[in-house]
Amino acid sequence: SSRRAIAFTGAGISTESGIPDFRGPNGVWKKLDPAEFTIDNYLKNAEHRARVWGMRAATTEARPEPNDGHRALVDLERMGIISSVITQNIDGLHQASGVASERVIELHGNTTYATCLECGERYELVPIKHAFLADGTLPECTECLGIIKPATIAFGQAMPAAPMRQAEAETLAADLFLAIGSSLVVYPAAGFPALAKRNGARLVILNREPTPLDEIADLAIRGEIGPILGEAAGVA
Ligand code: NAD
Repeated sequence: SSRRAIAFTGAGISTESGIPDFRGPNGVWKKLDPAEFTIDNYLKNAEHRARVWGMRAATTEARPEPNDGHRALVDLERMGIISSVITQNIDGLHQASGVASERVIELHGNTTYATCLECGERYELVPIKHAFLADGTLPECTECLGIIKPATIAFGQAMPAAPMRQAEAETLAADLFLAIGSSLVVYPAAGFPALAKRNGARLVILNREPTPLDEIADLAIRGEIGPILGEAAGVA
């Protein structure tokens, strides 16, 4: 009976594409210390920047493929059930799966390219990686000499204003809010499901592990995203 539903996704929707989440049992933060990955450290510490680009240079260019969870959301969007996808993910897989890019609201940026922290100029990763591998060059903006960083939001970095505004407007317009594959502990992103609920929308949470918002949800489904969403949308 929903007239306007929103999907809000986290790292959990992409684990079935082989991308580890942050806080699950095999999450990235079991191996790396989140305290190192702050914007302050990136700006002030060239050694840290070299570590970031070293890690990026060590990853392959192979792009992960969307999975049944992503495809289910495409179908729900095409059926007119979902009006947009608010995502904490940085992997671009919603767009790759076929959700119209203007309907994907990225709260934490995108890891598939880089930007200048001063002027916002966009840079592709491959030439940066090649220069780093050749002689350890750290990327600098050709326009303004600013520091270049992967286009994701680091700890301590301001949330992107336009996507935050858009996500708030979409949340307030929704009568059904589907939170999928998120531990719902990272704020301000995790404020959106609570906002939807306060605004009178139904809240559904689909996650493998319990979340702090399960108790206010109208329905909390504990399980695997691909099979459950896939069945719901008829793609699996
Ligand atoms: P999170 O790691 O905190 O939580 C992911 C949740 O998904 C966990 O509770 C886990 O149990 C659950 N999960 C994992 N695989 C699942 C599956 N197949 N089915 C059902 N549940 C599953 O991630 P978050 O809430 O998105 O927040 C943390 C931050 O992680 C975000 O800021 C995001 O930018 C970043 N992140 C993004 C990616 C990505 O883009 N793919 C990957 C890692 C981290």
